[in-house]
Amino acid sequence: HSSSRLATSNRSRRPPKAESPKKELVLNENFTKDTETLGSDEDNLTDSKKNQEKLIKSLKGVDPTAARQILNEIVVNGDEVHWEDIAGLEEAKKSLKETVVYPFLRPDLFSGLREPARGMLLFGPPGTGKTMLARAVATESQSTFFSISASSLTSKYLGESEKLVRALFQLAKRLAPSIIFVDEIDSLLGTRNNDSENEASRRIKNEFLIQWSDLTKAAAGKDQGEDVQRVLVLAATNLPWTIDEAARRRFVRRQYIPLPEKDTRRAQIDRLMSHQKHSLSEEDMNELLQLTEGFSGSDITALAKDAAMGPLRELGDKLLLTSKSDIRPLQLKDFVSSMKYIRPSVSKRNLSHFEEWAKVYGSSG
Ligand code: ADP
Repeated sequence: HSSSRLATSNRSRRPPKAESPKKELVLNENFTKDTETLGSDEDNLTDSKKNQEKLIKSLKGVDPTAARQILNEIVVNGDEVHWEDIAGLEEAKKSLKETVVYPFLRPDLFSGLREPARGMLLFGPPGTGKTMLARAVATESQSTFFSISASSLTSKYLGESEKLVRALFQLAKRLAPSIIFVDEIDSLLGTRNNDSENEASRRIKNEFLIQWSDLTKAAAGKDQGEDVQRVLVLAATNLPWTIDEAARRRFVRRQYIPLPEKDTRRAQIDRLMSHQKHSLSEEDMNELLQLTEGFSGSDITALAKDAAMGPLRELGDKLLLTSKSDIRPLQLKDFVSSMKYIRPSVSKRNLSHFEEWAKVYGSSG
């Protein structure tokens, strides 16, 4: 779960502009009405760029460069994830529906005592589907999805981070309903940021907390006529115990995302095998499920990819002359030999650390 993973994958996976109608739609719906009076001197720009520039101009007190950076690098378009793409995790899905999806789709039902939470934390071992869940929530709640890795705020963008954080929250409000997904939140809200030697990180953390509180205050006052209610900070971490106590309390819901149970591993393996020629019997499958105990979702994906190479590997150079239909199906033995290299990435000891933390600080249900 490396720091650069999210930031780079967002960029590399973003489809060309023409394939991303969602953002176009959101931009048009939400701001053309109040920016019509602005003159347009950017005739050479494409429509979507023009809209983007209008939006940026209309934001008060926001650095235009930071706003542009957010729209180009942090807003995720296309490459949608749906609930059914995620194996298992029924409890987490239920909790996310109740906390985010229903309130976003039916704001009229979720007011007063049913006021939606402004912060939700997903915690658990790496590779268990936290990022996938966040993406699914954005798709299913028809929200603008802002995805940022907290470690990039404290490294890549350091120096401009405070401006970026301000722009992030202003844009999220403007383009609401919005999900602000912060991966590796521990590197932003961890206790070590209280350390005075890290002045810059402390400032970003404060700015983040201020902007986040403003969201809550604005919602309580409902003074701006903006859709402030529907902005949620959804964060993920593999190190929940390092989060500062004050910050932890702001995450009203803290959802444990555990390693996949047998049924979940079965569902994921079935999905991975669905487009693959294989000869796994029911008995083989049961053995495979035993063998993958302790594997995370991403370990299982890695294992299946490596195993799928088995039938090709044994051909050596003959591979070049063999027709596709003559390649033998994938077998249990391919998984078994891949297991020499692909091992569970989470240790038992580490796992009990998560379970303890979940017992004390997790939300049930
Ligand atoms: P995290 O954010 O918890 O570190 P990710 O959501 O980035 O994990 O998952 C990494 C990869 O592992 C995914 O792209 C997917 O291939 C696989 N994966 C993890 N959990 C699941 C799951 N529950 N269902 C399907 N695939 C999963």
